[in-house]
Amino acid sequence: MITEPPKEVCSEEATTAGNYFISNYPPYSFWTRDHAYEAHTALERAPAPGTPLGIYLHIPFCRKRCHFCYFKVYTDKDAGEIESYLDAAIQELALYSQKPFIGGRKPKFIYFGGGTPSYISSRQLGRLVDAMKRLLPWDEAEEVTFEAEPGTLTEPKLQAIKDLGVTRLSLGIESFEDHVLEINGRAHGSKEIDQTYQYARSIGFPQINIDLIAGMLGETEPNWRESVRKTIALGPDSITIYQMEIPYNTTIFKEMKVLGQTVAPVADWRTKREWVQHAFAEFEKAGYTVTSAYAAVKNPARTRFLYRDQLWTGADMVGLGVASFSHVGGTHFQNEHEFESYMAKLQEGKLPIYRALTTTSEERMIRELILQMKLGRVHRAYFQNKFGIDIQQRFSSPLAKLQDQGFLTVDPDSLRLNRDGLLQVDRLLYEFFLPQHRSARYA
Ligand code: SF4
Repeated sequence: MITEPPKEVCSEEATTAGNYFISNYPPYSFWTRDHAYEAHTALERAPAPGTPLGIYLHIPFCRKRCHFCYFKVYTDKDAGEIESYLDAAIQELALYSQKPFIGGRKPKFIYFGGGTPSYISSRQLGRLVDAMKRLLPWDEAEEVTFEAEPGTLTEPKLQAIKDLGVTRLSLGIESFEDHVLEINGRAHGSKEIDQTYQYARSIGFPQINIDLIAGMLGETEPNWRESVRKTIALGPDSITIYQMEIPYNTTIFKEMKVLGQTVAPVADWRTKREWVQHAFAEFEKAGYTVTSAYAAVKNPARTRFLYRDQLWTGADMVGLGVASFSHVGGTHFQNEHEFESYMAKLQEGKLPIYRALTTTSEERMIRELILQMKLGRVHRAYFQNKFGIDIQQRFSSPLAKLQDQGFLTVDPDSLRLNRDGLLQVDRLLYEFFLPQHRSARYA
């Protein structure tokens, strides 16, 4: 039974502005422009044997900007600018494909993220993908993910996306309630969901994912339960859920600032966790398996999240597009984060790298540990074999704290978070950071 949110929310549980999710380590605020040259150095080295390679492409165009959005997106680019952007991304991949770090590798996973990849036309997509495949063939790619906004999908476009070789279509549904979609500034409505889903299913995408957000503006417990029920009724292969955070560059935060508010007008963290817990419990009753803090899958033997699993175990990934993030040979780097500067660098024939950080072996170990904690289970032998570290000894103090709080059990072979710990894993991970990184909120 989900409890009502308390009338008085303790400050620790209130949704205040700032980043909550930890998506990388060390935190982004430690990646600097002064060290951008390190990315170029990393690209000149051969890859470590056995390291898989992935490609991410950021398509930064959307029909509308959602009020909670913190990504680099544009809603005002015309067809010519979009064409030029795609040319620039192809040029970027062409520059990478010449570099020694490729080492004869072909990508194991490809991810089209956004923004809204489905915003661009079928013709543009076909041209883009043909060029990408010419530069780095996809015949070894085990997973091709494509994020889509339901309102941008027609039957011919879905067929075109499928024909590109997409293995996972990820539908950004977020909520099934029109009022919630509308007040959050989403471009699609509930009527577009069913038709899109059924057609995508009928043409045989290997994996359809539905993405939901717990705690959008105007979300209520009955609405949330209805979204969970409707998701199960559609029967996707996997479901991802994010708990709403309000970073500083969102429209919601800008309005909070004008009104002098410090607490965002969305559910508090305890309520969001309860909503996700309800969703996970219902998904489990329907036969799904929870495979991370954010995902449930219908058939774990068949449905994987390869990009997640490979990235979280140290794969190289090249991020193409404005503001994209890369990780190559232990060096993190990010692209120019403005459209104009990104385009200008490529027009000069240069890689658009903006800032970088080369990690130490210890930082790489911590990075993998905190990312794998999000799976709810971390294997000690993996860290012993890869980094020569007994994580139980090395992290005895934070692990004891998590055990005392009742979130963690330590087995001879592994560390395991219980469901309560898993649902708030991002706020537990700072304990594992090196002291100099603990105050950073942009992780
Ligand atoms: S569709 Fe996604 S990327 Fe586009 S504005 Fe909304 S949240 Fe941002």
